[in-house]
Amino acid sequence: MYMICICCAKCCFDTEMILTRSDILRIAKLGYSPDDFTVKSGGFIRLKNVNGACFFLDRETLRCKIYNSRPIGCRLYPIIYDVERNVITVDKECPMHWTVGENDLIRARPVLARILWELGILRPGELPKLPKGSNS
Ligand code: SF4
Ligand code: SF4
Repeated sequence: MYMICICCAKCCFDTEMILTRSDILRIAKLGYSPDDFTVKSGGFIRLKNVNGACFFLDRETLRCKIYNSRPIGCRLYPIIYDVERNVITVDKECPMHWTVGENDLIRARPVLARILWELGILRPGELPKLPKGSNS
């Protein structure tokens, strides 16, 4: 766990999280058809939104229906990857973004790197940069 999450579900609205192959296989094993929960957009396979919210969001409880099997990108959030700067960073859209510290970024870096390798965004062994001012 990288941060304090208040379970507001803001990150589950109007976000089409990029999915890795492992994410899709893991979720499909729960009995969901990839045709139902994925969409192709921007060169990637992403979580499908239904009426502005993730396919897996329970609108009444604001809970994730597949929490224990949720995509790795959802697990890392609000830690994200800034493609243009090749930097691991924190999404300020999350109201609890301030609870994520530098150590969290350092810990998440290899996990994020594995996703980026799997997606073909970085070469195997390559790591996203840490933000400027980081001690590592
Ligand atoms: S937006 Fe931030 S605080 Fe809200 S559910 Fe997502 S990670 Fe948690
Ligand atoms: S999979 Fe779960 S945590 Fe991820 S965006 Fe959808 S509802 Fe939110």
